[in-house]
Amino acid sequence: MHSKQLKPRQNIPLAEFTTWRVGGPATWIIEPESVDEVLAALQWAKANGQPCQVIGAGSNLLIHDNGLPGLTLSLRRLQGADLDSNSGVIEALAGEPIPTLARRAARAGLKGLAWAVGIPGTVGGAAVMNAGAQGGCTADWLEAVRVVPIQGGESFELKRDQLEFDYRYSRLQQENLLVLSARFRLEPGHNPQELRRETNSNLSHRTSTQPYTLPSCGSVFRNPEPLKAGRLIQELGLKGERVGGAEISSVHANFIVNTGNATAVDINQLIELVQDRVEQRHAVRLHPEVKRLGFAAAA
Ligand SMILES: Cc1cc2nc3c(=O)[nH]c(=O)nc-3n(C[C@H](O)[C@H](O)[C@H](O)COP(=O)(O)OP(=O)(O)OC[C@H]3O[C@@H](n4cnc5c(N)ncnc54)[C@H](O)[C@@H]3O)c2cc1C
Repeated sequence: MHSKQLKPRQNIPLAEFTTWRVGGPATWIIEPESVDEVLAALQWAKANGQPCQVIGAGSNLLIHDNGLPGLTLSLRRLQGADLDSNSGVIEALAGEPIPTLARRAARAGLKGLAWAVGIPGTVGGAAVMNAGAQGGCTADWLEAVRVVPIQGGESFELKRDQLEFDYRYSRLQQENLLVLSARFRLEPGHNPQELRRETNSNLSHRTSTQPYTLPSCGSVFRNPEPLKAGRLIQELGLKGERVGGAEISSVHANFIVNTGNATAVDINQLIELVQDRVEQRHAVRLHPEVKRLGFAAAA
């Protein structure tokens, strides 16, 4: 593939690529639609000496207002999944939206992903983050991922037991690997109507307890188990606290919403304010679940 077909675009605002709707421009961005295009994009970055940052649906990302240097590789168009309703095996490309996959699985009588319907991320992002909700998580159903080194090289498979999954953690968070695709194994032979009911009821539970109408990134902080971050924040009376256009949601205290004109710096300051207040009162420092890109002390 020639670089001409890759269509790298220059100076593109990343706010449109994150669910918080904040983030400055990417120096370069490519949105590959096939694995070959991903590999070509990685080659392009290497050949042009550009650092490369991979993003999925941007639903767990705080990107600085100054933007990101080098190439941002957005995988949200790398979509597609094959579901085998007999074996329960699903092969999904990294950019496949996890709620779409959850609904398709339910229709095919495959049980396992009903918890995922309200998580607006991609398959790749879910594997990296070990996304989960309502008692389920990615690690429970994922068999393997196919990855490629971001610096270039051959793709290879990592099996579940090699991924060091933990609460909202996988080893992929520490390594310079791009997830191309994932294989799940669900339980076949279930009643699609019942699965659809379970999926829909999970979604309505979430939309009634979490703020889905304003831009957010879901839960900002990891729970300092056995404690709940949202509970600690709420007990300090911080619901409604604002920095600029960023506000601690009055619906769920572990959510920071963009009320319209928030900047990434506003959100980051609010994150630090919460960390300081919680630490002063409870001697516990909350750690963001959200990944900060372009900040000096990135998490
Ligand atoms: C309204 C709302 C509700 C949410 N609820 C939940 C919830 O219940 N449970 C939960 O766990 N999360 C939740 N989230 C957070 C988020 O959706 C998940 O963390 C999700 O898995 C992130 O996927 P993504 O594709 O958006 O990844 P991004 O946010 O784009 O990226 C997250 C991290 O993964 C890396 N990454 C992404 N794709 C790849 C890839 N293909 N290869 C290598 N690295 C990659 C990025 O570099 C980054 O470090 C919620 C978010 C929102 C906005």
